Amino acid sequence: MLNERMYKLGSQRSGIRELFEFGQQRAKIVGPENVFDFSIGNPSVPCPDEVTETLKNLLNEDPVKIHAYTSAQGLPSTREAIAESLGKRFEMDVRPQDIILTCGAAAAICTTIRALTASPDDEFMVQAPFFAEYNVFVPEQGGKLVVIEPDLETFDINIDAIEKAITQNTKGLILNSPNNPSGHVASLDTLKTLAAMLKRKSEEIGHPIYIISDEPYRELIYTDTVVPYLPQIYPDSIVCYSFSKALSLPGERIGYIHVPKDAYLSEKIVPAILGALRAMGYVCAPSLFQRAIEQNVDVRPSLDVYRENRNILSDGLKALGYRVIEPEGAFYLFVEAPGGDANAFSEKAKEKDVLVVPGDAFGCPGFMRISYCVKKDTIERALPRFAELI
Ligand code: PLP
Repeated sequence: MLNERMYKLGSQRSGIRELFEFGQQRAKIVGPENVFDFSIGNPSVPCPDEVTETLKNLLNEDPVKIHAYTSAQGLPSTREAIAESLGKRFEMDVRPQDIILTCGAAAAICTTIRALTASPDDEFMVQAPFFAEYNVFVPEQGGKLVVIEPDLETFDINIDAIEKAITQNTKGLILNSPNNPSGHVASLDTLKTLAAMLKRKSEEIGHPIYIISDEPYRELIYTDTVVPYLPQIYPDSIVCYSFSKALSLPGERIGYIHVPKDAYLSEKIVPAILGALRAMGYVCAPSLFQRAIEQNVDVRPSLDVYRENRNILSDGLKALGYRVIEPEGAFYLFVEAPGGDANAFSEKAKEKDVLVVPGDAFGCPGFMRISYCVKKDTIERALPRFAELI
């Protein structure tokens, strides 16, 4: 006998992966240039030159050293560099012992959920639309995912709905701003109101409600909007960061967790996360990339390509009559499906070799996600096809 639950998880393909594979098959028949694949969130700009240079230099160093295991929490010098950078940027006291290097945001979220979950009744709220993998991450780490309905007009944080969903079992709220898939960025005012409500409710239920802030898109912002740093506003925020999108390193699996020193039980959360990393066999984050990050912690992505893509796609679709949720960050456009049925729209679009993901995958039917981390030319040539679909 096998673990049937794992068997199911491993054999079910996500809708996004299925579309992506459909695109690969079609590319063999009609040519890759005639498939308009907007399904996946792989960065389309190369990692910054500084990172490539650092990697080349690192490879000239002693291989025994650079490829060695590091401590489970991560190299002290890398944690120092991250702590110093966060401390300066957000004007707060961040210590190296508050940082844990991880294999990307996915490992950061899973181990944080596992560390916080004390009982199978523990609930983690998330507002739709949300990154579909939370459907796996939360229950597989022992918690329950509670989905909050979105505000379909603004896509802002639905504070009233969150408040109503809080129970004695509420352990945390997963926030993801800039958001995948809507591109929405929560404002400072909204986060302050949310923090005040969570503080009041935490007192009412007699234990803290943690925010798990999933931030792979923190640096991908196209307007003047400032992405607030949650620990400044709400100390019980655990930040799960990743270099996957900002430095275009998604396959290298590198990110970190910041547990603010003022978070309730912070002195126990860090070892509990290290315990979860150990239980899940992570050992340590990739050694070469810990070293590479240490030297590039303040390198920011070039946003020109994504900004231009965003503008062409958003303006183009609006001109055709589509309702577009104007994205401030990340690299996705969330668009209302004409006729209201995103699955039907996605199927119709597939017939034209245009691949868009129905919002059902993100807990938000009736909308579709269009990833614009693609070539500009793909967007420009796809617009006439979108015109035929409305
Ligand atoms: N969280 C969100 C919202 C994402 O969109 C992704 C990846 O697309 C992840 C987490 C996982 O990121 P990582 O590659 O760092 O594991």
